[in-house]
Amino acid sequence: MICDDLAVEDELGCLAPRVPRGDRLRPVIEPAMCNGCGICIAYCPFACLELEGALNAGVAILTEPLACVSCRECVEICMKGAIAMRPLDLGRFDPADDRARARTLLDDYLEVGE
Ligand code: SF4
Ligand code: SF4
Repeated sequence: MICDDLAVEDELGCLAPRVPRGDRLRPVIEPAMCNGCGICIAYCPFACLELEGALNAGVAILTEPLACVSCRECVEICMKGAIAMRPLDLGRFDPADDRARARTLLDDYLEVGE
């Protein structure tokens, strides 16, 4: 939970402890399973995700990990099962790396399709 006022109860009715920002799970998108539909991007309440490439032909990437509240909306809505929540080393995370990985994958697809 991220509530600073500790006002959220868990499923057993106990007050949920606050999870420090650095310890929260973040969405990790498997580019090979993503079809670029963009639904997770539209659903994210904090605009943490972006599309690399064209709609329905690109790959979703996490660009704002600090804004992510681990709500799992993106995981639940993805019909391809392409998103998993995992710990993320915020000190090492660079959205440019994910963007480059997605770009490489998309370029490979384009080459195969030619
Ligand atoms: S909802 Fe799933 S398939 Fe669609 S863009 Fe997001 S990760 Fe990719
Ligand atoms: S877990 Fe929630 S806040 Fe984080 S990227 Fe997914 S939808 Fe956005």
